[in-house]
Amino acid sequence: MKASTIALLSLFSIFFFPVSWTTSNSVQDKFIKCLDKASLSQPIPAEIYTPNNSSFATALQSYKRNRRFDTPTTLKPAVVVTDAHESNVQATVVCAKKVGIELRIRSGGHDYEGVSYVSQVPFVILDMSNLRSIEIDIENGTAWFQAGAILGAGGHISGGGYGNLLRKYGVATDQVIDAQIVDVRGRILNRKIVGENLFWALRRGGASSFGVILSWKVKLVPVPATVTVFKVNRTLEQGATDIVAQWTQVVDKLPNHLELRLRFYLKGQLSQEYFLKRKSDNVKEPISNTGLEAIWKTMIELEDVAMLWNPYGGVMNEISETAFPHRAGNIFKIQCSTSWMVEGIEATNLYLNKTRKLFEAMTPYVSNNPREAFLNYRDLDIGTSSNGNYEDAKVYRIKYFKGNFHRLARVKTNIDPDNFFRNEQSIPTLPS
Ligand SMILES: Cc1cc2nc3c(=O)[nH]c(=O)nc-3n(C[C@H](O)[C@H](O)[C@H](O)COP(=O)(O)OP(=O)(O)OC[C@H]3O[C@@H](n4cnc5c(N)ncnc54)[C@H](O)[C@@H]3O)c2cc1C
Repeated sequence: MKASTIALLSLFSIFFFPVSWTTSNSVQDKFIKCLDKASLSQPIPAEIYTPNNSSFATALQSYKRNRRFDTPTTLKPAVVVTDAHESNVQATVVCAKKVGIELRIRSGGHDYEGVSYVSQVPFVILDMSNLRSIEIDIENGTAWFQAGAILGAGGHISGGGYGNLLRKYGVATDQVIDAQIVDVRGRILNRKIVGENLFWALRRGGASSFGVILSWKVKLVPVPATVTVFKVNRTLEQGATDIVAQWTQVVDKLPNHLELRLRFYLKGQLSQEYFLKRKSDNVKEPISNTGLEAIWKTMIELEDVAMLWNPYGGVMNEISETAFPHRAGNIFKIQCSTSWMVEGIEATNLYLNKTRKLFEAMTPYVSNNPREAFLNYRDLDIGTSSNGNYEDAKVYRIKYFKGNFHRLARVKTNIDPDNFFRNEQSIPTLPS
């Protein structure tokens, strides 16, 4: 063994295992022993935090973006692994599979339902936030960036990723031209190795059903040197309803470089966000003035609710290479939201109910059969599956994935036949 490796291993023992190193047979101990063994052949050991470790809370909290999942009754992970190297990701997957502990993968921790850091059964968090390098190839107009880069690209891109350039270039996932993924056997694969089916599925099928994304390669797109932002603030008394009604009629047909989003809020919203609930919808028909007035009435009655409307259209109607299912026929997307800062179950129930009531009130104006939902706006209300059960997944599959679901399940069955990579809304394997 090289001297440098020995030095690293000593550091590993001192800094990352200051907790009681028991010989008990718990799954947690088996997992840590497995990682420890694996680290013997790794260039940099993983950083491992257990609840006994003084830095455990920091490691757990640092990328928790929704305090709704930060209560005394929220089950904490048995271990948080913060990767320092790709080999740690491989070892974490192999060891979790081997000892039979559930794995939750977290890049930016933005999941609205905390799926990347909460579970109902004993679990390990694989935190990708230290893998954040970016390599830009200006000549070829491409870039590789790791899953923890920027805002936490791992989940954002694999769930879609809309932004202000959506109508001109599509969603972020449409720009992906390669990916590095660790599969259930701990192998590092890329597009050439995985083939087009899995590569398609990673782009909006939710990568956490298939493996761990190490990095994405994307096409870079030109952005204008200057962007003109017009802000139009109108109250109902100032004719907001007419403007919004016209917006719903034309917004998906405007020139692609124009991005006109609408945000509706009442006093108290858009403050610092601690506790969150989000729900989503797609709209396929313009909304009349009468419809809009009914929506305003509900919002005023509910108080402290907000909505964000983002247009579709443009090139979104033309791209077909990725598994993003909300294309032609959609005018805009809705996010119903509440954000609050009061702790406790009463406040939580109050705001969850407000969001659900607002969502209910939107029923006449949004897609139906199925009532479509945006995967990146995770919403467990629309259905969950226990242990990735195929029958349970029927509830949410059409809403998130539409006609792509069966193909996604086929890909899943090939790459992860034992359904190791799973969560409340993952793609299940096909029934045998
Ligand atoms: C403040 C805020 C603003 C947002 N703005 C936008 C927006 O403008 N546009 C938009 O489209 N969405 C937006 N979202 C939604 C956001 O894109 C999704 O929550 C997305 O899933 C976040 O990805 P993440 O890696 O940060 O989250 P995480 O919580 O880390 O992960 C989300 C999901 O992806 C999985 N995952 C994470 N990393 C990996 C990986 N490396 N490999 C495999 N699976 C992985 C997780 O297991 C989980 O299922 C916003 C969310 C928040 C909280």
